[in-house]
Amino acid sequence: MSKIVSSDKVNDYLERYMEGVDKRNPGQPEFTQAVREVASTVFPYIADKPKYHENQILERMAEPERAISFRVPWTDDKGNVRTNRGYRIQFNSSIGPYKGGIRFHPSVNESILKFLGYEQTFKNSLTGLPLGGGKGGANFNPKGKSDNEVMRFCQSFITELYRHIGEDTDVPAGDIGVGGREIGYMFGQYKRITNRFVGVLTGKGLEFGGSKMRTEATGYGAIFFLRNMLDQHKNTIEGKRVLVSGSGNVATHACEKVLQLGGSPLTMSDSGGFVHCPDGFSQEQIDWVKELKTVRRGRISEAADEFNNITFHEGRPWGVEADCAVPSATQNEINGDEAKTLIKNGIKAVAEAANMPCEQAAVDAFVDADVLFGPAKAVNAGGVGVSGLEMSQNSARIAWSEDDLRKLLENMMNDIHNSCVEFGNTSDGPVDYLAGANIAGFVKVADAMLSYGHV
Ligand code: NDP
Repeated sequence: MSKIVSSDKVNDYLERYMEGVDKRNPGQPEFTQAVREVASTVFPYIADKPKYHENQILERMAEPERAISFRVPWTDDKGNVRTNRGYRIQFNSSIGPYKGGIRFHPSVNESILKFLGYEQTFKNSLTGLPLGGGKGGANFNPKGKSDNEVMRFCQSFITELYRHIGEDTDVPAGDIGVGGREIGYMFGQYKRITNRFVGVLTGKGLEFGGSKMRTEATGYGAIFFLRNMLDQHKNTIEGKRVLVSGSGNVATHACEKVLQLGGSPLTMSDSGGFVHCPDGFSQEQIDWVKELKTVRRGRISEAADEFNNITFHEGRPWGVEADCAVPSATQNEINGDEAKTLIKNGIKAVAEAANMPCEQAAVDAFVDADVLFGPAKAVNAGGVGVSGLEMSQNSARIAWSEDDLRKLLENMMNDIHNSCVEFGNTSDGPVDYLAGANIAGFVKVADAMLSYGHV
């Protein structure tokens, strides 16, 4: 193929490429949205690098190496037989074993897991560790289920999945609806079936091979990245008012790190609405929310009943005036109009701690307004990064100290930030972190694929 250079030609090529992706993946809007986001920044970069076109690298990258779907039967506490659908998308193993979380949520389907597995491939590459990309889950709703029901579901899920995973093949972790409790049940069943104690899942309890700092890693890492973006642009996180959405693992630890670095976390949310604390949440309040969500499994609105300086509101928190936003709940939770409101209210930086929380219109609005925009695959890579370190500790049968792991996490987030700056620097505006993260993640995976020939 001849060299593609003009931007018109690049756009033509992108549109033809996306036509093919759309045609091959009907009814999978989240997945095609994620592919377009990557392709629109990678195509200009590879325009004058024919080896990637001739070897159909982007085409092959958009096709999972393997997509497994399976039946998950289980029995509820009343003795009724229930059936859910489980999945594992083994997306790309070019630079290491498949690695990515398991999500339990009623919205789970193939499109969402393919988008997450695709993104995970680039994210894992950015960590600098030898990790491929994958994602899995089930359309199971853990809300309102008893511990025993969750245990039976996890056991049934792993009774099928165990044959597809392994410490050198595919190493799942947690995600929405899958925390320490669920990982414990799944690891217990894996060990029982295979009679092997190996690092096949990450996010495990500290008593059975888990890593210190794993629970905190995604939220803390996201705020390290936000701090780095602000520092890079001669600003600081100190004194900044930060909007956080979600109230799960990522959100609560993001709030905690904002507080530790001298900022004020103003909001948290769940699917029922958001809570607002104009003074900024205290550590005591954040701990209270952690307990609410992981032990009592209650609703975020209860925080307003408990604390005088917290109010509850329906909807999402993006109308509150603040300096930074860290969406930490789920995909597509900031739309174009909400982005415009944030911009009108003077937002300076947005760091995507959840996966693809900003719709394309929102991303475009932030970039057009020169708001610093940190994409998920860079911002939330600390979680999988420490998961990678958990795998290393499991292989060597050792446990590193919290201090060592905190430093490793912080250094990893600095390195990821530097890679984004290297590939995303612009002469006349803020760093283009979106292009920087996509290209830095792409290059390593693409070059490994070139080495393997057409596999
Ligand atoms: P949790 O299950 O711990 O928490 C999820 C939070 O998001 C809950 O507060 C939940 O509220 C809220 N939420 C979920 N769906 C919706 C919705 N449709 N509308 C509004 N709120 C919603 O998950 P995590 O904190 O682990 O994950 C959050 C995000 O971070 C996800 O995008 C995940 O993929 C991403 N991520 C997580 C990593 C990790 O290490 N855990 C690593 C990298 C990315 P409710 O209880 O009402 O459902």
